[in-house]
Order: sequence, then structure tokens, then C-alpha cells
Amino acid sequence: MEIEIARRKEVEQRFKDFYSSVSHELRSPITSIQGALQLIEQTRERPAVKELIDTADISCERLIRLINDLLDVKQIEEGRLGLDLKEVDALELVNVAVDGMQGMAHNANVSLEVVMDSLSFVVADQDRIVQVLTNLISNAIKYSPSGAQVLIKVTQPETNQPRLRFAVEDSGPGISDEHQHKIFGKFERIDAADGQKRAGSGLGLAISKGIVEEHGGTIGFTSVTGKGSRFWFELATVQENTVPVMRSDSSVSAEKTLS
Ligand code: ADP
Repeated sequence: MEIEIARRKEVEQRFKDFYSSVSHELRSPITSIQGALQLIEQTRERPAVKELIDTADISCERLIRLINDLLDVKQIEEGRLGLDLKEVDALELVNVAVDGMQGMAHNANVSLEVVMDSLSFVVADQDRIVQVLTNLISNAIKYSPSGAQVLIKVTQPETNQPRLRFAVEDSGPGISDEHQHKIFGKFERIDAADGQKRAGSGLGLAISKGIVEEHGGTIGFTSVTGKGSRFWFELATVQENTVPVMRSDSSVSAEKTLS
């Protein structure tokens, strides 16, 4: 009973912290859009105007992402995600997600490497699975040191079930053992093992878990402090093709291991 009360209090506190951090997250991009717009009004210098418009644009992006995340959390909680399931080519899913993340990777000086060990079709809502891959790749880039490589790998797990595993691997700071059980929780943000603070709402992994589980799939990760993290999820396949194929956006590399 006492444990239950303590647990409830902790959840309530987390809600309070979440709402205060969300109001901060919403307020700061709006304030910066406002500031940029006021300065645009006053300035006539062209390069300065471009910079201000870029600032306003980045802030709008952040706001839209946060609002979309909040709506997704609500939909997942209420069980009304409404998946549009089709037979989708795994390669297509990876390509769309990777192409969308090249800009962020470039800015962070991180390269994205794709290894397709298996070509298969999965039963999926394309936009939602691209969203999961994008979340995982975005985290991997965010936590990678400059000059590092993020590996996106598709394999057939060694089980009798017809499933496909998508994995995203980085060589970042990893997640310490004491925090590992929390990271798929809603509103959970943990300072990385390297002590550096990174922007984020703490919703990406909770949403990813909700989407994968709504597909009947599984999601998980392994992480070693100081070495990196490997996030993965598995979906049911429609059709199997064992011809190994590779697509790379930089030089071809052998698979790394975390252990
Ligand atoms: P956000 O990135 O917005 O904080 P997420 O739900 O995506 O939210 O991640 C939750 C937490 O999990 C992060 O705050 C971070 O502590 C940890 N995390 C997620 N991905 C990684 C990663 N690749 N390397 C290290 N830590 C990670």
C-alpha cells in the first residue's frame, strides 16, 4: 500500500515536471520567433534578415515537433493511433528515414551507414515506422561524437518466426545501468552518461514503443556506458528473400560490436 502511494506520488510529480518543462519548451521557441520577427521589422541588411528568418524557421520546426509528439502520446494512450497497414518494402522504409536524416547527420558531422542483410516486406504503416526509425536515428546522431558513424542494420533474427529486425547503433556515451529501465517511459529524460545536456522532450522512445507494439512488434535496446547503444525493433514479415544486399551512404564498413 505504502509502495503504491509512493509510486502514485512519483507519477504525479513526473506529470508536474513534464508540464513545466513542456511550457518552457513551448515558450522558448515562441519567444525566439517573436524576437526574430521584431528584428526583421527593424533591419534592412539582407544577410542579417536571412539569419533571423532561419531562427524563426527552426523554432517553428521545434514547436510543430513537440505538438505532434503530444498528440501522438494522447492517441497511443487512448488506443486510437489508427494504423494504415500495408505490405511495405523494408528497404524503402530505411531509405525514406535515412534520406530524411541526412541533413541532421551532416550538421553533426556524423555519417549514416545502411546495411541490409535481408530484403523483406513487412506489414506496416509506412509513415509510422519511418517515424520510429527517424526517432532512433535522430537520437543516435544526437548522442554521437563528431566524426562518428551511425549504423542502420536490417537482419532476419534467428528465430522460427518470420520477423525482420531493424537496428540503429551508435558509439555515443551509452545509458547507465541504473537508468536503463526508465527510458521507454513517457516524460522520461535522462542526462547522458557523458554528463552533457541535449535538447528533447522525453517522448520519442515512448511514442516509438507505442507504435511498434501497436504493430504487434517488439522494441528493445542494449547499451554499454562509454561504448554506445543499439536500439532495435522487430516486425512481422510478409515475404522472405535471403539475397544479401548493401546500401551505403559513405564507405562500406564491417559491423561493429558493443561488447
Ligand atoms: P528525448 O531524446 O527527447 O530526451 P527519448 O524518449 O527519445 O527523448 O529518449 C529518452 C532518453 O533516453 C533520453 O533523454 C536519453 O537519456 C536516452 N537515450 C535515447 N537514445 C539514446 C542514445 N542513442 N544514446 C544515449 N542515450 C539515449
